[in-house]
Amino acid sequence: LEKKIAILEGRVPQKYPDVKFLGYKERKRILVTGGAGFVGSHLVDILMMQGHEVIVVDNFFTGRKRNVEHWFGHRNFEMIHHDIVNPLYVEADEIYHLASPASPPHYMQNPVKTIKTNTLGTINMLGLARRVGARILIASTSEVYGDPMVHPQPESYWGHVNPIGPRACYDEGKRVAETLAYSYAKQEKVDVRVARIFNTYGPRMHASDGRVVSNFIMQAIQNLTITVYGNGRQTRSFCYVSDLVDGLLALMASSYTLPVNIGNPVEHTIEEFAMIIKNLVPGCRSTVATGAAVEDDPQRRRPDIAVAEANLHWTPKVTLQEGLQRTIDYFKEELSRTAFFNNQTY
Ligand code: NAD
Ligand code: UDP
Ligand code: UDP
Repeated sequence: LEKKIAILEGRVPQKYPDVKFLGYKERKRILVTGGAGFVGSHLVDILMMQGHEVIVVDNFFTGRKRNVEHWFGHRNFEMIHHDIVNPLYVEADEIYHLASPASPPHYMQNPVKTIKTNTLGTINMLGLARRVGARILIASTSEVYGDPMVHPQPESYWGHVNPIGPRACYDEGKRVAETLAYSYAKQEKVDVRVARIFNTYGPRMHASDGRVVSNFIMQAIQNLTITVYGNGRQTRSFCYVSDLVDGLLALMASSYTLPVNIGNPVEHTIEEFAMIIKNLVPGCRSTVATGAAVEDDPQRRRPDIAVAEANLHWTPKVTLQEGLQRTIDYFKEELSRTAFFNNQTY
């Protein structure tokens, strides 16, 4: 009944009709740091639809209230404007720790802040988990493998990271976050999970966050030049956001405590990717241009997901074509919404 009322009131997005509404005994109080961001807001949707109490903590550096505003006023939802570099005292049964800028232009904009968020911020969240006895899932990244010498990348690979390069604030920040997680697990018996997330895309990515998916789609739908950095032969493997969220939920629920790669192993060169997007936008007149290469840009990236398949029984389901089509539709809507507001006088 509660779910029906919420749907009638328009508080539940209709995108995940299969979500199971849990009984009272299974419901938890769940803290999501970075919950107003791209990945966090999709996770919040599922947790809310399952019937949990959700506390979002975000400083809105790259996230937006708009991503979670459909939950404002719901009695199970709370939003705290807070920077996790500072201590935080709340109660929770589980913590999804996602707060960190994720796109290269964002995390390079203020490298000191990025490393503080991933180190001091992670210490605070581990300290909180320790105090309240909560299980905590740390959002790590495929960037811990750096520009990898092993392909595809299994969790056992230690990585190839430049500790003083432009990406180091993020890569090394996440590596320290992992080290902190396992130090707290060993010394303080904190129950940790570590997800090594590979490139993820979907609706609610920020149109101007500079990542390849948002850049190429925004360029293609406006008939602008598609900007390939370098020769375009570098590769990435893209995971649709609902698959990632399913993987995070499965990891949190599992008893597997070592790092787990979560990503889609279908790999493309960036040049191929530009053509795939161009061909998915009807009548697109964009040309594809190559430009200067990015410093320390990883040349090949594809997850080995055998650990996730065996231990979480998880595998991505959404094809690249399907996921990109949904993302293109989202960005088209965003563009017309922005155009509408730009034409308003206040
Ligand atoms: P995002 O930038 O959309 O979301 C990050 C959120 O964290 C934002 O809402 C931002 O405002 C918040 N935040 C940043 N610093 C904060 C601070 N100091 N205090 C409080 N809130 C803060 O990025 P995303 O793509 O949703 O990424 C979420 C997590 O997943 C990040 O930890 C990221 O490193 C990880 N990840 C994402 C990808 C990907 O492809 N999207 C890949 C690997 C890892
Ligand atoms: N912390 C927090 N919320 C809590 C508990 C701890 O933000 O509910 C912070 C606390 O300020 C500390 C950090 O987490 O700086 C690490 O906590 P821990 O208990 O490990 O260390 P200590 O308090 O002994 O420094
Ligand atoms: N890239 C590109 N054009 C763009 C944005 C990115 O060619 O407009 C390339 C970038 O150099 C990298 C790949 O696309 O090789 C993925 O970049 P992104 O910033 O999305 O993620 P990451 O480098 O963190 O995987």
